[in-house]
Amino acid sequence: MSNVLIIGAGGVGAVVTHKCARSPEVFSRIVLASRTLTKCEAIQSQLPRPIDVARVDADHTSEVVELIRSVKPDLVINVALPYQDISIMDACLETRVDYMDTANYEPPDEAKFCYKWQWDYHERFKEKGIMALLGCGFDPGVTNVFCAHALKHRFDQIHTVDIMDCNAGDHGHPFATNFNPEINIREVTARGKYYDDGRWVETDPLSVHQPFDFPQIGVQEMYLMYHEEMESLSKNIPGVRRMRFWMTFSQEYLTHLRVLQNVGMTRIDPVMYQGVEIVPLQFLKALLPEPSSLAAGYTGKTCIGCMIEGLKDEKPLRYYIYNVCDHAECYREINAQAISYTTGVPAMIGARMMLTGKWRGAGVFNVEEFDPDPFMSDLNQYGLPWVEAYPKTGV
Ligand code: NDP
Repeated sequence: MSNVLIIGAGGVGAVVTHKCARSPEVFSRIVLASRTLTKCEAIQSQLPRPIDVARVDADHTSEVVELIRSVKPDLVINVALPYQDISIMDACLETRVDYMDTANYEPPDEAKFCYKWQWDYHERFKEKGIMALLGCGFDPGVTNVFCAHALKHRFDQIHTVDIMDCNAGDHGHPFATNFNPEINIREVTARGKYYDDGRWVETDPLSVHQPFDFPQIGVQEMYLMYHEEMESLSKNIPGVRRMRFWMTFSQEYLTHLRVLQNVGMTRIDPVMYQGVEIVPLQFLKALLPEPSSLAAGYTGKTCIGCMIEGLKDEKPLRYYIYNVCDHAECYREINAQAISYTTGVPAMIGARMMLTGKWRGAGVFNVEEFDPDPFMSDLNQYGLPWVEAYPKTGV
């Protein structure tokens, strides 16, 4: 029996809240807080049981501290934006409450996400005897757990990991992003980077690409990008030689993105417009559909997984583990689209792991540092079943 405070009432926040509400044996009290109270109330009205809602601006540690003191949660689940990670972690430290999120910190004025800022909290969390679990969505999150599962059960030595994220869905808009537009566009327009023999190799944005035949979807072009789970996995998989991350994009998406970049709409530095300072990317976000609004009528599937090569019993092994998720089924179940669903379900499972004591520790952790078995079992139970294959060809 426990009390959770969920911060962020967007697409992912709605899924986490729905899924926690369906597990009253673990999440006996739920409080959903966000910057816009009406968004919390809209989610509250769709749930099978009562929850409480509150307004908070999580950019301000003092507001979060005040909320935590009144709610007295056992765990804070941060599904607002990466910009709020540090202010919420500070509030958890001050009030001695466990913390969890799905995306690592990046400063608003610099498109550079990395774990350093949050890993630096390890000693302080340890001293207070509290736990922070970082990056517990799908990627990062499930992809890290897939690697931990592969290392524990399938390989003696992992040599290469290719994480492949395919969304072959159709939401009917010429251009929209499946999670927060600002975070998504900052990530996609950044330089690519992959891990190779102990060093990081940089590539021009989306310049490296190749086709891949995704299960239940077919051939899609996927593009090499930098993604945050490689930072922790390259440290936590002993002896891994190469690690890459790939994501698929439609030509329609890429053409729109190129035009928006060319005209300066993806800039994150402030510009003066009629005497007011605006950040073009934030203005663009205000024009684009909210990720949660894409759910109705979204068709098609996602397929996210890891292709792993290495040795088992001294013989070479190629292994592919993935999940396929259907947008329309997610909508039927809890009015969500598959990107929010595949992020929110693992966040709920991560919270279960912490609250039931299956994953415990004092300090700051990434998900692959814990036993993957109970998490893998919950993925099958709570809507994200996984499949294992031994393909003849790799990436
Ligand atoms: P949305 O934009 O739909 O939702 C974000 C929510 O956070 C909004 O309700 C917003 O409120 C709220 N928020 C923003 N700033 C604050 C603040 N200062 N204080 C309180 N609330 C705030 O995004 P998503 O739900 O799609 O994404 C949520 C998170 O999940 C992001 O961090 C994203 O990077 C991460 N993510 C992780 C994935 C993974 O696999 N690991 C995949 C997809 C997303 P308002 O509406 O009022 O602005």
